[in-house]
Amino acid sequence: MSQINIPILDLKSQYQGIKDEIQAAVNQVLESGQFILGPVVQAFETDVANYLGVKHAIGVNSGTDALVIGLRAMGILPGDEVITTPFSFFATAESISLVGAKPVFVDIRPDTFNIDPNLIEAAITPKTKAIMPVHLYGNPAAMAQILAIAAKHKLKVIEDCAQAFGATYHGDCVGCSCDQAAKESLTGRYVGSMGHVGAFSFFPTKNLGAYGDGGLITTNDDEIADMARMLRVHGAKERYKNLMLGYNSRLDAMQAAILQVKLRHIDDWNSKRRWVAENYSRLLADVEGVIAPVSSAGHVFHQYTVRLVGCDRDRVKQTLMDAGIGAMVYYPIPQDKLPIYLGEYPANPVSDQLGQEVLSLPMWPELSLTQIQQVASCLQKVLQ
Ligand SMILES: *Cc1c(COP(=O)(O)O)cnc(C)c1O
Repeated sequence: MSQINIPILDLKSQYQGIKDEIQAAVNQVLESGQFILGPVVQAFETDVANYLGVKHAIGVNSGTDALVIGLRAMGILPGDEVITTPFSFFATAESISLVGAKPVFVDIRPDTFNIDPNLIEAAITPKTKAIMPVHLYGNPAAMAQILAIAAKHKLKVIEDCAQAFGATYHGDCVGCSCDQAAKESLTGRYVGSMGHVGAFSFFPTKNLGAYGDGGLITTNDDEIADMARMLRVHGAKERYKNLMLGYNSRLDAMQAAILQVKLRHIDDWNSKRRWVAENYSRLLADVEGVIAPVSSAGHVFHQYTVRLVGCDRDRVKQTLMDAGIGAMVYYPIPQDKLPIYLGEYPANPVSDQLGQEVLSLPMWPELSLTQIQQVASCLQKVLQ
């Protein structure tokens, strides 16, 4: 087993496959002399809006900025409450706190790792202004039910799509209880096209990753789009006529050119991720102590994350890593239990439990069947 070397993620093999296309695109930007926003960014924004089926796509500096600017563009103000999941990367709740609003955490489902739609209504107060579902690990949240609740209570919805570029909703979300017609009306829609705002990250490790930081705001609402475009350039519609406090949060032309190339490959890469996941799930189906993730038709498996039950997850992780197999825990501490919020929130039992049980295995599109088999059999041996 000491010969194995399978990292959690390998970005080098993907680059080798698209090297010529990337270098040509980067060279064009270098020759053009225009490096921030400009025609290359606009061209990418048009391509990505067409791909996702949205009216507006607005490139920004990061996924975190996409969330912050998206919240402000939707009109979220200090003192407002925004309902979200405890089980996510801190940028989710951080963005809500950064605009002065209060994150309100609603527990997740143990099978989808996503916010439990059946618990949302009980968390709504007169201060609630929005819901921020996260499509965690690439699995679409229960959007039909979330949108129905939002419409009923006049709330905005901002989708955290950082881990789910290219994921589509098919109404097959486990445990959601909403009517068939609502599900069917959304079937096939890309994440980031269903709520009022979608926020994407192009951090290099994400499914559509740049070679640096980058992010994207999507919306079908002209006013939200106008506001987001202003906020990304210091709150100005015209240069030197600043109307509000904004940000310096623009997408680089170099990253946009790279992303435009990568967008042409994303369907292929996402379907390879699904193939990797299917093979893991097949090989781990009968392994005692492993609960494989539920799949859904539009899941894009940013992570392949299992639950380990009846064992010491951290010991299993260390043993895998000692054997040369990458393994990571996303996320050991739910957001509501982070030092910054400590003591402020009631317990979310499912999220707390899964923080102890989850383990993400190596996942990238170019993983071979042999590598998948090595990971699965090593995990099986460790658990015996
Ligand atoms: C990566 C990530 C973000 C933040 O994106 P950045 O581009 O790193 O700022 C937000 N939410 C989730 C769920 C993420 O995984």
